[in-house]
Amino acid sequence: MSENEENKVSRRRFLKVAAGTAAAAVAVGALPRLARAEGLPHLKESDPAAQALHYYEDASKVPTTKFPQFKKGDICEVCRFYQGKPGQTWGPCQLFPGKDVNKDGWCEGFSK
Ligand code: SF4
Repeated sequence: MSENEENKVSRRRFLKVAAGTAAAAVAVGALPRLARAEGLPHLKESDPAAQALHYYEDASKVPTTKFPQFKKGDICEVCRFYQGKPGQTWGPCQLFPGKDVNKDGWCEGFSK
């Protein structure tokens, strides 16, 4: 094989590898978007961050004697920190990054 032919083969091999790498990068880049479409892990009441702010997955279970600031109708869905979409039961909350909270939940960080 001449030097010229070897260069052509190397160039072709390089382009093949580069194309494969680019395709893999596109596929990996799409993963977080796909994961977000599925939603984030649900915040559990047992999570230390949830316990720090006394998060309740179901606001109807908030003991009003313990949390007198809680008013009927105060739920995540109407909280300024809630970022869920209408019609979805779970959505992100700015106070609990990386987790979804229940739209019917409540925590001490509630703010209308
Ligand atoms: S800050 Fe608001 S949206 Fe987030 S958990 Fe507390 S009440 Fe729900």
